[in-house]
Amino acid sequence: MSTTLSDDLTRLSAVQMADRLADGAITSEQLTQAHLDRIVRLNPTLNAYLLVDPEGALATAREVDRARAAGEDLPRLAGVPVAVKDIACTEGMTTTAGSRMLADFVPPYDATIVTRIRDARMPILGKTNMDEFAMGSSTEHSAFGPTRNPWDLDRIPGGSGGGSSAAVAAYLAPLAVGSDTGGSIRQPAAVTGTVGTKPTYGAVSRYGVIALASSLDQIGPCARTVADAALLHEVLAGHDPMDSTSIDAPVPDVVGASGTTDLTGLRVGVVREISGEGFQAGVQARFDEALDQLRALGAEIVEVSCPHFGYAMAAYYLILPSEASSNLARYDAMRYGLRETPEGSPSAEQVMAASRDAGFGDEVKRRIILGTYALSSGYYDAYYGQAQKVRTLIARDFEAAFEQADVLVSPTSPTTAFALGDKTEDPMAMYLNDIATIPANLAGVPGMSIPSGTADEDSLPAGLQILAPAMQDQRLYAVGAALEARLRETQGGYVIEQAPEIEVRA
Ligand code: GLN
Repeated sequence: MSTTLSDDLTRLSAVQMADRLADGAITSEQLTQAHLDRIVRLNPTLNAYLLVDPEGALATAREVDRARAAGEDLPRLAGVPVAVKDIACTEGMTTTAGSRMLADFVPPYDATIVTRIRDARMPILGKTNMDEFAMGSSTEHSAFGPTRNPWDLDRIPGGSGGGSSAAVAAYLAPLAVGSDTGGSIRQPAAVTGTVGTKPTYGAVSRYGVIALASSLDQIGPCARTVADAALLHEVLAGHDPMDSTSIDAPVPDVVGASGTTDLTGLRVGVVREISGEGFQAGVQARFDEALDQLRALGAEIVEVSCPHFGYAMAAYYLILPSEASSNLARYDAMRYGLRETPEGSPSAEQVMAASRDAGFGDEVKRRIILGTYALSSGYYDAYYGQAQKVRTLIARDFEAAFEQADVLVSPTSPTTAFALGDKTEDPMAMYLNDIATIPANLAGVPGMSIPSGTADEDSLPAGLQILAPAMQDQRLYAVGAALEARLRETQGGYVIEQAPEIEVRA
């Protein structure tokens, strides 16, 4: 398919878009329309968006253009469009969390992050697909069908935020919002050749974000470059009195850090427990090469050990279901959400049971059952209590590791994108995708995935994860930006530029 002028606009980075808008070289209406055109053409194939809002996006775009023409001082990303994972409430715009339970739910208010996006004057293109209630690593648990990976339409785009990452990778949005409870921003970034950050726990407000596991959930940016991610990170982050876990401290200078080109003196720790064995050869090879590039940038590579990381998955799959079973108890068919009324004169309990049976998918039911069991009296100490202790040990592992290193690195995900349908029958195989990303959520530390290259076996993108101590999110951007620039030079361009043209499917 030939490339049109409007396609060209979608190829720009968010930084370039912002610059051209500020220069008056393009208008936000043109830019937004270019993305909407591409969405119309490709979304039926990709299923990255569950909802597209052309009127709303164009209205914001025109307002920004008018304000700019009037000489108003505008935020840096004003007029740059963005996609929002369908887990964040948007006033007047359906918000499903990928579930039949909320298929018709129209929130009466905006999540704080959505308010921030509106304050930044960014047109919201639409809501992106996700695994139901953010449970999954492939988007195949979405009640509205899976998203396809733009690199290979028969493969998964990662999950739970596969819609956001696929939208960014396919140039259906320059930026997108994701949520990461155990890896749902970083793993989709890894398998789509894009960048994704899970900020420090509490750095970004969760108010109005549909809860999966409240002590693990964190909102963050999806982008094609580190500098672009930094700009969106800055929009999203900041104290919010509406979220009791929100950190009341200045946002780290992530945008400044994303200009870093030299890492002299920086100590980079390779975590022995989350690399090597069990990682696909090509993924590991790109990781090892990236270590060489980090050395070339002046960093010192040290090996660190986090002995309790081996228990992270087990602890996560007790803590997450426990919190999820409690959070999802609100879907009682009484206040909002799906209501199924059985024949006859059913009791409230029967309506509730029928609604939950029809509204929740298998993975959600599995985790509710697991969580309810782990929290039940008699088992609480043995399961939930024990998992919380392991969580403390993992946090201590991080503390010890960060005495030896300023940042830690690992491959983001053990493999490149797997085929659709490959792991849907095997929950354990699905869970293992997050082996390297889960520890950060348990400890509340920030993490980022950047593309490390394409794996030799299948020419699909692989990701490298960077982890930093809590409240030191800027270190992710410093290391990410310097390494990204270096890899771009040595690999002949951004990984994402090597993606094949998307073939439209009926
Ligand atoms: N894949 C992980 C899970 O299924 C992570 C999900 C997430 O980060 N929201 O729980």
